[in-house]
Parts: sequence; structure tokens; C-alpha cells
Amino acid sequence: MPTPEAPFAPEPPKDCPRCPRLVAYRAANRAEHPEWFNGPAPSFGDPEARLLVMGLAPGRQGANRTGRPFTGDHAGVLLYGTLLKLGFAQGRYEARPDDGLELVDCMITNAVRCAPPGNKPETSEEAACRPFLAARLAALPRLQVIVTLGDVARRSLLKGLGLKAAVGAPGHGSEFQAGPYKVINSYHCSRLNTNTGRLTPAMFEEVFARAKALLD
Ligand code: SF4
Repeated sequence: MPTPEAPFAPEPPKDCPRCPRLVAYRAANRAEHPEWFNGPAPSFGDPEARLLVMGLAPGRQGANRTGRPFTGDHAGVLLYGTLLKLGFAQGRYEARPDDGLELVDCMITNAVRCAPPGNKPETSEEAACRPFLAARLAALPRLQVIVTLGDVARRSLLKGLGLKAAVGAPGHGSEFQAGPYKVINSYHCSRLNTNTGRLTPAMFEEVFARAKALLD
């Protein structure tokens, strides 16, 4: 009889072995840049958060380098700037994990915790990391609202909650109920989306203003 898998913690161990391709990528990055974090990026923020922001996966030179989600690459500038503006963060974002920035009533996590080559995780890697996401959700006792950044994060969240992808429509601004949580999907704040104008700072701010309005 197979041994039952141990319950998952909300944060994976630094040497998590579950995705061979991502483990190999971590090792390659560690060999090239031993001073980088090169591990599963831990969630960042307030353990009593009512708002969870869920990205796709760490960027190689972002969280994979610095060890804090959305820190050190282009996407963090808009995300943290918006959170500061809406009161979900305090301090200053200086693109490094020791900048003293604190999240207020908010936590940030990723669907896949290890950086994937080309920023593209495989479906099997999303599935392998999903138990950590489910444990992360379960460990947030006050969580009410989740902002998913992009459709892969939206789908992964729904699967993590044991729901069908059709429960929530794709696209920017889509809003739906997923189990006990209200979810708003946003275009990802990636360089591609912001440089092409697909996602403007005003559009992104609207999402978080709506999230704030939904909190009880
Ligand atoms: S992506 Fe998640 S499941 Fe896969 S190796 Fe990293 S932490 Fe483990």
C-alpha cells in the first residue's frame, strides 16, 4: 500500500523536490548566481490578511533572485505602488527584501513557488504546487477576497479549491464567488502587459479599489 502523503505546510521547504524541471532550473541558477535566493519564493505579508494577491510564478530575476514575491523585477513596481496607494502596504518599495515595506491586511503568494524557465510553468508543475496553495489559503483565517493576476492563477486557484474553471470567467475585471472567497481576476502586471497598454495603472488600481470595497 502506498504511504499516504504528509499534510502540506503553507510554505514549501527550500529544497522542495516535487518538480524535477524546476529543481534543475534552481540548481542551474544557483551555480550561475550563488548569491541569489534560488528557491521556492515564500508568501509575503500579513498572516491576518483579508486580501490575498495571487501571481503565477516568481520571475528569475525577481523573487527567485531576492526571495520576496514581485521584488526586484518590473511587475513589482506597479503591484507595490498600487498596494501602497490603496493602503494595503506601508513604507517604501525599494525593490529589495530589506526595504522595510510591510503589507497591511494583505498577503502575496504565487500559484507556482519556483521560477520556471521563460516564466512558463507546466500544468504538472501547477498541480504539484497546488497543495501548498491550498494549505496557504487554509492558514489565512480572515481571508475574504483574492485578486488573481492572470488566467493561469485564476484557474489554479479554482482547482486548488476543488472547483471547475468555469466557476469564474476569464478576463480582466471578472468577479466571482469561489467557495468562501470573492475573487477578482486582473491582467498580470507584467512588463509585456503594461508596456503594450493592455493593463494601465488606472485599470490595476480599479481592481484593488474594488477588492477593498468588497472587504467586510
Ligand atoms: S514549484 Fe512548488 S511543488 Fe514544484 S518544486 Fe517548487 S515549491 Fe515544490
